[in-house]
Amino acid sequence: MIPEKAIETVLAQIDPQKVIDLTARLVQCNSVWDPQAGTNETEAAGVAAAFAREQGFDVNVETVVPGRPNVIVRWTAGPGKRTLMFEGHTDVVTPGDRSRWQYDPFGAHIENGRMIGRGTNDTKGNLAAMLVAMAAIKAAGVPLAGSVVGGVLCDEEDMMIGVQDFIKQGHADTVTAAVICEPQDGLVCIAQKGALRARYVVHGRMSHGAMPLAGLNPAPAVAQIISGLAGLEAVAIEIHGQDPLLGWPSFTPTVIQAPAQGPPQLNVVPGEAQILVDIRTIPGQDHETIRQALASLAEQVTATVNAHYRDLDDRLGIDRPFEITVTVDFLSDRPCTRTDDTDPVVGAAVWASQRVSGHKPDFAGVPGATDGTYLWALKDIPIVTMGAGDRHVPHQVDEWVDLDQLVDTARIYALTALAYLYAGTDDA
Ligand SMILES: [Zn+2]
Repeated sequence: MIPEKAIETVLAQIDPQKVIDLTARLVQCNSVWDPQAGTNETEAAGVAAAFAREQGFDVNVETVVPGRPNVIVRWTAGPGKRTLMFEGHTDVVTPGDRSRWQYDPFGAHIENGRMIGRGTNDTKGNLAAMLVAMAAIKAAGVPLAGSVVGGVLCDEEDMMIGVQDFIKQGHADTVTAAVICEPQDGLVCIAQKGALRARYVVHGRMSHGAMPLAGLNPAPAVAQIISGLAGLEAVAIEIHGQDPLLGWPSFTPTVIQAPAQGPPQLNVVPGEAQILVDIRTIPGQDHETIRQALASLAEQVTATVNAHYRDLDDRLGIDRPFEITVTVDFLSDRPCTRTDDTDPVVGAAVWASQRVSGHKPDFAGVPGATDGTYLWALKDIPIVTMGAGDRHVPHQVDEWVDLDQLVDTARIYALTALAYLYAGTDDA
């Protein structure tokens, strides 16, 4: 039990206006990674670094690649083995067609208790909340054991080079738990789906549509790959069922193209086709086994389609001296994550959420990957993903965040750190 006085002391350090102002300053920096337009994370990282320095933190700005910095914010509260990391990213996705926005996407306009702008929800509001929370726990002067680290990272929305560099530089080595600050609408997320992306290419032979026997159409192979994927999905559903937090596993062909490149034409048999597959996994599914299954599907389809063409040739009395080949390669591979709900960081997050909101938060899962995926997969760090913001609003026009929820999120983050690192006695 943490004494009420310590809780009140920490909460008193959260100034709502500070959360709102810092969010606005971050949103006003256009941090879309766009080398042509010359925009990147530098300015937003500078705002975060300056704020953290003003609060007396140890701050390092590290260039991951030119124009894309990570900001590392550190504070050692007292001797202790635990290090709690807060992670928030500085990049945002493009606003798209600005004429579809009701307000300037980088204007941080406030109306009816909401701030509107690109990144208000995903995730500059939560980034501001985490920095204010870290400052609050530092200023409160309550007895703590261990350290707090803030990872203000670049490139979460694309290849996640920021978190990978954070790990490569050794910053994650001492981290014992992490709070991933992303819009989860007050839910405490302890699981994330995995993602495996694959590309099938079917090589046939191009010909005139009027003379298909002069070529080899990849279409029958495409059909078999698609039905093979449906079969693999059915087996995964059968074996692994529905995860209570993440739902069902899925094998989804998202892009089906023939020809693989260039414009399609009705009277041309395409020489090549490609299928991109977005596979989302739940705990229990092994990615290596899936890779093998996808590779053997390629072999199977090659064999059956070539047999089909040989049969046809025999019946027609022709001989095509070429064959279909099917290859598969993998574009990215991110495991699913699951933090044990008995982990101390989960207990801290649940207690803090309940203390601030007045009700026990629900556990949930994150459908996509985040920077936390890498911390969990490469460094075995238990992660909890939580933050303010409707979960369906990221990447939309007129992205917004509720400011009351955002300020409460700063309180939840601060109390999570208090609960995780508290070193006083009950009567302190
Ligand atoms: Zn995000």
